[in-house]
Parts: sequence; structure tokens; C-alpha cells
Amino acid sequence: MQFILALKKASLNEELTSDTIEKIWNPPSHADPINDPGMCFSISTYLALENASQLAYNCVCQAARTIFSGSGMNNILTFHSVEKLIASYTGVISVEHDMCCNTCIAFTSPFSQLNACPICNMSRWKEERLQGTHGRSKIAAQMFMTILISLQLQALYWNKDSANDMDYLHQGGLKCWYSQLIMVSSYLSDMNWIMVYKA
Ligand SMILES: [Zn+2]
Repeated sequence: MQFILALKKASLNEELTSDTIEKIWNPPSHADPINDPGMCFSISTYLALENASQLAYNCVCQAARTIFSGSGMNNILTFHSVEKLIASYTGVISVEHDMCCNTCIAFTSPFSQLNACPICNMSRWKEERLQGTHGRSKIAAQMFMTILISLQLQALYWNKDSANDMDYLHQGGLKCWYSQLIMVSSYLSDMNWIMVYKA
């Protein structure tokens, strides 16, 4: 019942920062091309190593810095910097919440004030850190990341080909249905899905 009531009164303001809400309501309509060779290399490497570790990205970039030293490709980015660049360029960002390290629940909505999982009783916090600081430092044992679908859809609309792909059902006269699906998906993903995840 608590979840039903929370869903009824859910709003963007509860879960998202004002900066994120601003991006949802006023998405950029285009993105200037990135021409810097180092940045282009960093983005390409980051995307190519999608399933590899952060260490793999750093090793490839370090090798490239050595090999291409003096060639004009000076601006090869760190892992953290390339993630920030991509997020800023596309407008697609993630929202993080604490979660049970056994993946039972996310500590949101009715669970947001709990210190332990109501299902498996695992602590929400890194206990070693918590004990070592006499309860002062509460660091989540695990985080759950949501990549907001509305920002992904908005980014896809920048590009003519991906925008056409997303509107393909219009060819069959189902645009109304598809538009509604996007609206509902966006709403649920941005606000409620975070809350009901594994609940
Ligand atoms: Zn649990």
C-alpha cells in the first residue's frame, strides 16, 4: 500500500535534481561536432571497450599517449573525463541509488530510510567503514544506476537516421500509439521504475 501511495504522488522533483529536470524539459536540439583528435580517440576507445574494465581503457590510452606523443593528439582523456564529456555531449546522465548488495531492493521511497535490507537483512552500508568511524561515515555497500530513458530518446532525436528509426511505426499509421508508449515509458522510467525496482 505504501508503494501505491508513493506512486500516486510521485513527481520528478522527488527523485531528480533541478539540473536533470531542466535537461528533460529543455533538451538541446543539436550537438556541435567534436573535432579534437584526442577527444575523438578517447570516445571511440571508450565505446569500443564497452564491456572491458576501466583498467583496460587506461592501459590503451596510456599506450596511445606514448605512441602518438608529439603528433598533435595530446588531449587523450582519463576514464572519468571521457565519461563526463559523453554525458555532457549527449545530455544522457545516470541517477544512482543505494541498493541491497544481494540485489533484493533499492533503498528508495518507503525503503529510503532503512539501514538494512528488509528481505535479507544485509546492511545498507559498508560495515567496515561504518564501524571504523563509529557510525559517522555511511557509504552505500552497492549502488543501483538508472540511465533515464527520456534523455536517451531525446538524444536519439538529434540524429536524422535514429529519429527516423524511432518513428518507423508512423509508416504503418501507429504513430499515436507509439508516441503514447514513449510518454508512458519515459514517465515510468524517470520516476516510478526507480522506486518499484525489485520492491
Ligand atoms: Zn537484501
